[in-house]
Amino acid sequence: MSEVIMNKTNSPLIVALDFDDDNKLLSLVNQLSPEACRLKVGKEVFTRFGPELVKKLVDKGFDVFLDLKFHDIPNTVAKAVAAAADLGVWMVNVHTLGGVSMMEAAREALKDKAHKPLLIGVTVLTSHSDADLEQLGLPNCKEMAQKLAGMAKLAGLDGVVCSAQESAAIKQANGADFLTVTPGIRPLDANQDDQTRVMTPEAAVRAGADYLVVGRPITQHSQPLERLNDINQTL
Ligand code: C5P
Repeated sequence: MSEVIMNKTNSPLIVALDFDDDNKLLSLVNQLSPEACRLKVGKEVFTRFGPELVKKLVDKGFDVFLDLKFHDIPNTVAKAVAAAADLGVWMVNVHTLGGVSMMEAAREALKDKAHKPLLIGVTVLTSHSDADLEQLGLPNCKEMAQKLAGMAKLAGLDGVVCSAQESAAIKQANGADFLTVTPGIRPLDANQDDQTRVMTPEAAVRAGADYLVVGRPITQHSQPLERLNDINQTL
């Protein structure tokens, strides 16, 4: 029987830990608590510090989202997702552009796992604009995200990563239980950085986003803990 994943926090915030220095990362994490937020480990931190750091965060009691956006042949992605489950992460993702059979293989790989992370599909990156997709000969971001979300649903995934701007339409098409995880979150006074399809935390929650991924507006802030608490209070 698979383990029931209990909610450790009522906050929808997932703090994106994008650091090139593990001491800086851990000094931020030591100020945070699993009751206030979840954590996301992406490609930079995983490539520099590896699974040991992920395990350390899990052992500290945090729900960890392993954001490696797996995109490969079905067998390889299935094995990678199984390895993520064995690390004890709360959420893992694959890229929906890998196709339905790749996503189905990922879902199957988790079926009999004692610890079963949420399996999420990345749709269109929040840094992409309609013009970027046009260059690829693809429809606009909203249409493309909707199409890819439908494929994720068909493959039996738990939800998708999308822009909060697309969250309401994706939920409407795929059901309220189909999770939307939304990066590109920017409080009004924050820098947009390289993100294009952005929304404020309050608006994202109003649009139905289940989880908000916030990186630089918290990690690069002079008072990260206060910033996190301020955002939590507006939600
Ligand atoms: O610093 P910022 O808030 O822009 O961080 C957003 C995080 O979410 C980054 O770690 C980025 O890799 C990730 N992400 C994203 N867009 C996606 C999927 C993940 O920005 N579609």
